[in-house]
Amino acid sequence: MSTVVLQAPWARAAADVSEPAQPPVVSAELAPYRDKLAEGRRLTREDGLALFGVRDLLGLGRLAQWFARRKHGRTVYYVNNGHINYSNYCTLSCAFCSFYRRKGKDRRDGGYEMNLEQVFDEAGKIYARGGTEAHVVGGLHPDFPFEYYTEMLRGIRARYPKLGLKCFTAIEVYHIAGLKKLSVGETLQALKEAGLDSLPGGGAEILDDRLRDVICKGKETSAEWLDLHRTAHRLGLPSNATLLHGHYETLEQRIDHLLQLRALQDETGGFLAFIPLSYHPEHNSLKVEHGPTGMQELRMYAVSRLLLDNFPHVKSYWIMLGLATAQLALGYGASDMDGTVLQEKIYHMAGASTPQALSVDELHHLIEETGGVPVERNHLYRRIRRGSGGPLDWDIEA
Ligand code: SF4
Repeated sequence: MSTVVLQAPWARAAADVSEPAQPPVVSAELAPYRDKLAEGRRLTREDGLALFGVRDLLGLGRLAQWFARRKHGRTVYYVNNGHINYSNYCTLSCAFCSFYRRKGKDRRDGGYEMNLEQVFDEAGKIYARGGTEAHVVGGLHPDFPFEYYTEMLRGIRARYPKLGLKCFTAIEVYHIAGLKKLSVGETLQALKEAGLDSLPGGGAEILDDRLRDVICKGKETSAEWLDLHRTAHRLGLPSNATLLHGHYETLEQRIDHLLQLRALQDETGGFLAFIPLSYHPEHNSLKVEHGPTGMQELRMYAVSRLLLDNFPHVKSYWIMLGLATAQLALGYGASDMDGTVLQEKIYHMAGASTPQALSVDELHHLIEETGGVPVERNHLYRRIRRGSGGPLDWDIEA
């Protein structure tokens, strides 16, 4: 992709990020939901199911975009970040996963693991580019000790004190806890003391235990996933939440998943963003004909935005969506475009054909073309003000 930035004329006008609170004009089938939202009332399970079936997809997008802009105006956030996938060896073998390898037992090639020096090198590359967030996840490694994880955090924190550390999905934290037979709370506390700032949202898949048994047998239960995030929030560790869609799940299961997240957010307020993840059906054993279509993706974004009224952000995750659909998702309720993402491995091993990184200029261009105003954030969604003395001369607004 070219790095030439074309300034869209409407982006200049969008410098004022305030938006009128007037609800949009929509078709008759959407009017009852628009009126409900405008009155500050919540959508129900039945409303969510009905929205998945409305014919007026463009109107649904307008409604979701209005809802997002009521929270954020035209601001669309992004982060200068990088991914560190420290190993893909895993003791589980989730049917939808194309990333994992069984150490010493897998005939497929592509298994790898990083020692701590290699992890620190990767963190250094992110920092040298002016990155402010490291997104660190991996498989459930069969041999790494508890200290591998705490020393990883301590080592990155000591070398790059300003780098935000968003690390370890719920199942990784359960795995790390099991290495020392600690409780989830004790483990999260130890990780926090070592430098952990926040948790990513992975591993939620679908919060329905019967379906989890099919697509990710052996993973934590729905209640355990929710409880881990509840505990993290209580310890002052914010997190994200995801939903994997486009495989065997029903619309009812999607809605119930969203409502469980909404209930937990009511309780703790600790979620920063929700990310719908589309299933990529290549190189794994969970067979479906194809992943979600573009229209299904956009509907998923809009319904999520409207149901998760207490989530600050829905994230347009371009790595999974592709750049074109990621731009469109900004018109269907997304207010964050994730980031520059250096070296993503997990979805590329599942067949994602997107680039493995974007420059800041490219992200600005993609956002401005949609009428959004790009704003760089850190891992906690604080706005970043960069200085003029080079990539490391930056300051974070409190
Ligand atoms: S999804 Fe995670 S836990 Fe499941 S097999 Fe893949 S790496 Fe392992």
